[in-house]
Amino acid sequence: MEKGPFFHTAIIGAGASGLFCAGSFDAPKIVLDANKEPARKVSVSGGGKCNFSNRFISAADYLSQNKHFCKSALAAFKPQDFTALLDEYHISWQECENGQLFGQKAGDIVRFLVNRARAHHTTLALGVRVLDIEKEPGGFLLNTSDGPVRAAHVVLACGGLSFPALGASSFGIKMARKFGLSIVEQHPVLCGLSFDKSLRGLGETLSGSSVNAVVRQGKKSFQGPLLFTHEGVSGPAVLKLSLFWQPSEPVEIDFLPGLNAAEMLAAHKNSTQTVSGVFSSYLPHKMAKTLLAACDGPLAQATRAQLQTAVQTLHHFTFSPAATAGYTMAEATAGGIDTRALCPSTMEVRSVPNLFITGELMDVTGNLGGFNLHWAWASGFVAGQALGRRF
Ligand SMILES: Cc1cc2nc3c(=O)[nH]c(=O)nc-3n(C[C@H](O)[C@H](O)[C@H](O)COP(=O)(O)OP(=O)(O)OC[C@H]3O[C@@H](n4cnc5c(N)ncnc54)[C@H](O)[C@@H]3O)c2cc1C
Repeated sequence: MEKGPFFHTAIIGAGASGLFCAGSFDAPKIVLDANKEPARKVSVSGGGKCNFSNRFISAADYLSQNKHFCKSALAAFKPQDFTALLDEYHISWQECENGQLFGQKAGDIVRFLVNRARAHHTTLALGVRVLDIEKEPGGFLLNTSDGPVRAAHVVLACGGLSFPALGASSFGIKMARKFGLSIVEQHPVLCGLSFDKSLRGLGETLSGSSVNAVVRQGKKSFQGPLLFTHEGVSGPAVLKLSLFWQPSEPVEIDFLPGLNAAEMLAAHKNSTQTVSGVFSSYLPHKMAKTLLAACDGPLAQATRAQLQTAVQTLHHFTFSPAATAGYTMAEATAGGIDTRALCPSTMEVRSVPNLFITGELMDVTGNLGGFNLHWAWASGFVAGQALGRRF
């Protein structure tokens, strides 16, 4: 077999964590990505503006079977460390509601990641798929679509399974299994929830309508925009809940958070309004009419049962989602490489010295609001620092 070039480090994945890791130390390294363009998820993130971090970040914003694991990296690399770098590269950013930090254009962040990596001795190999990794004396042999590559250290930064259209692959999980690591079962999160057949008509009628709502399951509840889609419900409140969604329990929606539908109906009792008409200033007209179709009619003639149904529907609309919207629509993948196999301050695999894992590939999943990208930066940063100490 051809010998191939040798690097201090080979990073597999020119996504958020791989590029950030590459820019965090000075050794000669190669970053390989099957995509022809770098960091495709970053370039579409945050609706094109890249919600790159969150000022109020803490370990509580992450879901993992090993919930303390992320603390060390989050302490080592904070949101203000990222914004300081953006300032240094003259990239504008802004803080929005709930501490969410956004760029002006996601493309600016991608250029920053690439320029910073290149300024730290990085060869970028785009359009090159890594097919296999073998351990060999002195390091690792990578079998790639462009021939062999050798390196003393390897960083698996291949991301989660969501959005296969942007290059997501199961390669990292395959390699983790090959090196004997355990995997926490993966599933799509930060995505919509689908109605079962009985409610599909509702989704089709209201598709495109949105409202501020509270969505809850068990003890978890989130308030924010809710959007009806052909398949079910989506929007930030639903995406946040999807991180915790348990298929065994129903989901409840309050379409009038902070209001009291019963009092509103009572206040209009002697008017000429219809039941749904009472709520037309608070909900889109079509939404009020469709949701209350079973109990609508002139308010003055409404029975107690009709009024109770209206109140129940508006404050406690309950359904059992058939599924999530799946990997094609999910912003993140929960589960992944079990972090108990990793050193929290370096991301090195304890049982395979010189092999590192970063980003979404491991079982650390952030909620909506900039937490997943921040995890990519923080995990890439601590891995990069550790690799720099070995140069
Ligand atoms: C539509 C969308 C919007 C999002 N918006 C936000 C947001 O605003 N804020 C936020 O915090 N998070 C957001 N996220 C999540 C965030 O983008 C990811 O969590 C983050 O990019 C993960 O970084 P990563 O380095 O682990 O993986 P990625 O950035 O996904 O990078 C992995 C890279 O590995 C490459 N790769 C995989 N297999 C191979 C192989 N065999 N050979 C070579 N290369 C390979 C892939 O092509 C990819 O480029 C969004 C996600 C999506 C899908």
